Amino acid sequence: MHISSAFDGGNIEVVDLPESGDIRLRIRADAGGEFLQWFYFRLSGARQRDCRLLIENAGEASFPQGFRHYRAVASYDRQHWFRVETDFDDQVLGIAHRPISDAVYYAYFAPYSMERHHDFIARCLSDERCHLEVPGQTLDGQDLDLLVIGEPDETKRRCWVIGRQHPGETMAAWWMEGFLERLLDPLDPVTADLLARAVFYVVPNMNPDGSRRGHLRTNAIGANLNREWQAPSMARSPEVALIRERMYRSGVDFSLDVHGDEALPYNFIAGFEGIPSLTESQLALLTEFRTRLAALNPDFQTIHGYPRIEPGKANLSTCTNFLAENFGCLSMTLEQPFKDAANRPLPELGWSPARCRLLARACLDALHPLLGKLR
Ligand code: ZN
Repeated sequence: MHISSAFDGGNIEVVDLPESGDIRLRIRADAGGEFLQWFYFRLSGARQRDCRLLIENAGEASFPQGFRHYRAVASYDRQHWFRVETDFDDQVLGIAHRPISDAVYYAYFAPYSMERHHDFIARCLSDERCHLEVPGQTLDGQDLDLLVIGEPDETKRRCWVIGRQHPGETMAAWWMEGFLERLLDPLDPVTADLLARAVFYVVPNMNPDGSRRGHLRTNAIGANLNREWQAPSMARSPEVALIRERMYRSGVDFSLDVHGDEALPYNFIAGFEGIPSLTESQLALLTEFRTRLAALNPDFQTIHGYPRIEPGKANLSTCTNFLAENFGCLSMTLEQPFKDAANRPLPELGWSPARCRLLARACLDALHPLLGKLR
């Protein structure tokens, strides 16, 4: 038997791999040492053997509650990901599985590689309405990709959509596929009308380095990008510095920052209620978007989420609060579960790439009637 994570997005350390008995593993911490939770590895040579894999430092993860009532994902072909039996005693995460193939992959959530990202960007660019801008490079020297869809002019709303500031939240990347596929579908009347009246600035992956390195939350040198928006620097957080600068040039009328939440088994939107300059019209738009999205896609809900922040107490270093405060716009964080949507559970797959894509499509429907009110 052998275990490897030496590939795009891989993360695991092998403590002990005996020929029989429990396989002992540890998650490698992100650069900076502050976060750990993402795992992704291949087990080979275990066909038709009852395997028990123990992740011994799961209790030291950034969000140990994320492993309660959680089931890991597995795949033989890295296309179809299914859930496997998983237990957690607040210290050790145990995965029990009998592979039916010579090689099987296990992960925290369906992985999304940088190679797939490049394939997807190339596919988007086959549509001549879609333009690629590369505002700059990451600390590992990867391009930061920004897709601009539509020709900017003064009458058009400026809609920014970014994902994967936290690289282990791969559901954001699957969501981006659904979002861009629908936005670029020439037969779709909703998105055709959106593109007639708006320009979309889309950053499918804000954190290519963390993605390729198999991090949960940080970039190559340990910066949590969603705490960098007030004072980003090219030395520490070029991803945010470059995109923020581009946002100042374009203006922002709408922003959606796509994430995943380790602990809560729900889709929900975190807003900007705690910003100092909060306006009634901003709040009304937030409520309307949430209500419409819940009606359009019952996988989304408005009951469960983060506690509302008191007026003036917002952390302005997050993308959503920073943009809401500085542009006075509707600015939101969309959170999707690692586990399942408890309001509509589908136990075999849990929350899954296909459901991420469908939620993204519904977000475009939710935005459509609001577009004229954004400015
Ligand atoms: Zn996040």
